[in-house]
Amino acid sequence: MNILLIGAPGTGKGTMSELLVKNYGLVHIATGDILRQSIKEGTEVGKKAQSYIEKGLLVPDEVIHDIIVERLKKDDVQKGFLMDGYPRNLEQAKDFDKILEEVGTDIDLVVLMELDEAILADRITGRRICKDCGQIYHVVNKPSKVEGQCDNCGGELYTRKDDTLASLKTRLDEYHHATMPIIEFYQNKGLLKHVNAALGKDEVYAAIVKLMEESNDQH
Ligand SMILES: [Zn+2]
Repeated sequence: MNILLIGAPGTGKGTMSELLVKNYGLVHIATGDILRQSIKEGTEVGKKAQSYIEKGLLVPDEVIHDIIVERLKKDDVQKGFLMDGYPRNLEQAKDFDKILEEVGTDIDLVVLMELDEAILADRITGRRICKDCGQIYHVVNKPSKVEGQCDNCGGELYTRKDDTLASLKTRLDEYHHATMPIIEFYQNKGLLKHVNAALGKDEVYAAIVKLMEESNDQH
């Protein structure tokens, strides 16, 4: 089962990725991670990528293309993979089709994690983090026992600089601008399914599993 997970920041993509990887043995593929891995392993494309990074340049799309191909050709991908944070725009989505063809595989399911912006804003702006142990709280959904103080270690809780309404708005605008064409692209292929990310963690997970089963029946 090859899955693509799409969702704005704060929709719980990370949590769902962890569960799917753990329970289904899917390989989690995030471009930043596999880029670092290729460089560490010193593969041909890894060296190419490194030469850009050393010059302070962005790694170009064609190198990212080769790195994804390299990763998808490894044996451990047999049970399937979960793409995270890629494709980021329509160009990459089209290029990903070429990658899949090159590797001889296909996407089975594209899951769009949907969340009302007001709920997203509550989730993000209510987030508080312990400056000592990194534990995450939420002023309404998961408050600390003493306001502003960590339950684990007594450390001071703070709000991340990015977790403000203004910053969220910018991130969401960027996300929508780049993602809407991708959504349409996979919608036209009949692969796109929606999941209501406002539900609890277990319910969201169950909804994704159900979509995977339905997709399995179709193939
Ligand atoms: Zn703490």
